[in-house]
Amino acid sequence: MLTTVKAGPYTIRGVSVGGVYTSLHVPELDCLFDAGIVARSLVGASNLLVSHGHSDHIGALPAIFGVRGLLGQPKPRLFLPEQIRDAVQTTFEQLSHIQRYPLEAEWVGVKPGDEHQLRRDLSLRVFRTHHTVPSVGYQLFRRVQKLRAQYVGLPGKEIAERRAAGQELFQTVEHLELAYATDTLIRVLDTYPSLLATRVLILECSFIDERKSLADSRAGCHVHLDEILERASDFQNEHVVLMHFSQIASPEEVHRTLARRCPKSLWDRLILFAPTAGQWPG
Ligand SMILES: [Zn+2]
Ligand SMILES: [Zn+2]
Repeated sequence: MLTTVKAGPYTIRGVSVGGVYTSLHVPELDCLFDAGIVARSLVGASNLLVSHGHSDHIGALPAIFGVRGLLGQPKPRLFLPEQIRDAVQTTFEQLSHIQRYPLEAEWVGVKPGDEHQLRRDLSLRVFRTHHTVPSVGYQLFRRVQKLRAQYVGLPGKEIAERRAAGQELFQTVEHLELAYATDTLIRVLDTYPSLLATRVLILECSFIDERKSLADSRAGCHVHLDEILERASDFQNEHVVLMHFSQIASPEEVHRTLARRCPKSLWDRLILFAPTAGQWPG
């Protein structure tokens, strides 16, 4: 039932069918992106990152909490747009009451520009996406200390001496590791251009051909393959993982159509988050 792909150092496991359900687990980052479907092996992440309140992204949240409780896992950190935090939290209180079992989380309402440290070497930044309801995307990055260019090549002993003398030899640089942008107009690439330079970009691609017109796709605030192809040369990412495909096309049609339509420069970095054969999961 689950699809697994490898994008650079990151494993992405889960299910994504546009409008039906999307949950993607990246174990190396200890994150679950969206909560549209529960699966036993998807629930272990300490950080749940919700993009928006549509049911294909949030509908399985109580079930995920239930399975976590069953497995005795600690309460997760739940990031979600600040505009829906109180409503979702109230719903959870009601559900806790119904089942006489607390669904507990550390609730973190987020807005574009917010930063949170997930662990010592990993942080997330929130950016705006463009959908029909309050929505955000998430970019994960590492801050690392890098020797300033003018000191590269100095012997280790001299670096240590200069450091001891209080010289500023290092600067902090950000390594943009992975970003998640779904249920959005393509202009998210303009309003948050660092997506194009993030090592792994997980990006919505709901529609792939004329069975959904560009106008209809935009009216629903979704991304169409035509729009990705227009910008094919903009992507500087090591990998672009396309997902949230509509079930209008079968998984096999998705692979075939993208192989036919994408220029080599884009195709070489593309990973399609879709089964390679058969039906969509479920
Ligand atoms: Zn969706
Ligand atoms: Zn949506």
